[in-house]
Amino acid sequence: LIQVKDLHKSFHDLEVLKGVSEEIHKGEVVSIIGPSGSGKSTFLRCLNLLETPDKGQVIFEGVDITDQSVDIDKHRQKMGMIFQHFNVFPHLTVLENITLAPTLELGQSKEEAQKNACELLAKVGLLDKKDEYPRKLSGGQKQRLAIVRALAMNPDVILMDEPTSALDPEMVKDVLEVIKELADQGMTIVIVTHEMAFAKQISDRVFFMDQGIIQEKGTPQEVFEHPQNPRTIDFLSKVL
Ligand code: ATP
Ligand code: MG
Repeated sequence: LIQVKDLHKSFHDLEVLKGVSEEIHKGEVVSIIGPSGSGKSTFLRCLNLLETPDKGQVIFEGVDITDQSVDIDKHRQKMGMIFQHFNVFPHLTVLENITLAPTLELGQSKEEAQKNACELLAKVGLLDKKDEYPRKLSGGQKQRLAIVRALAMNPDVILMDEPTSALDPEMVKDVLEVIKELADQGMTIVIVTHEMAFAKQISDRVFFMDQGIIQEKGTPQEVFEHPQNPRTIDFLSKVL
C-alpha cells in the first residue's frame, strides 16, 4: 500500500531521517517505537507529505506522491491522520466536525454525511454528543471524535502519532479499544506509540526507530521477546 524508498529529511543541519526504506501492506498494523527525537513523527509526517522529504520517494497505491506533478490533496484524502493533540475544530459541533470534509471534498450530501457520521459516532459511543462543541468533551472523547472524523473520509490507511499520550490514564483504554476495533476490521494502521503492551497486542509488525533509521523490525514476538540489535535491547530495557 505504501512503499518508502530511501527517505531523507533534515531540519537545518540536523539529519533526522537518514535513508528509510520500508513497505506497509494493505490491512497491516505497523507500530513504530523508539526513543524521543529518533525521527518517528517526522517519518510518519513524510508518509502523507506533511513534511516534504529532501530525498527519496513515497509510493502510495502505486503513485509516487513525492512527484511534484501529483495532486497531493487527492491522495491525502485516502490517508487519515490522528495527532497527539486531537486537533478538532473548536467552533464546530461534533457532527459538523465529522461532516465538513466528506461534504466539501467527497461531494456527499449533508444527509448522507450526517447519517454516516451518526453510525460512526454510535460505534465509538459518542452519538449522544453529536450536537456538543468539542470544549464539552473529555480528552478521550475528543480523540475518538478525531478518529471518527478521519474514518468519515473512508481512508485506506490511518496514520497515528501517539494518539493516547496526551490523555489521562483513565481515558487511554477507550481510545485504544477503538483503535483495536479498527485493526480487527482490517484497517491499515501505522501508529507511533509508547504503549508497548498495546503495540505488542495489535501489531502485525513493529519498527524500532533510532537515530534516523529503522534499526530493527519484525513481528511483535521477534522485536519484543527476541530483539537482536543492541539499541533495541537497550531501549526495551528502559521502557518495559
Ligand atoms: P518523540 O518521541 O519525542 O515524539 P520523535 O521520534 O517523534 O520523538 P521527531 O519529532 O521526528 O522525533 O523529531 C526528530 C528530530 O527532529 C528532533 O530532534 C526534533 O527536534 C527535530 N525536528 C522535528 N521537527 C522539526 C521541525 N519542524 N523543525 C526543526 N526540527 C525539527
Ligand atoms: Mg514524535
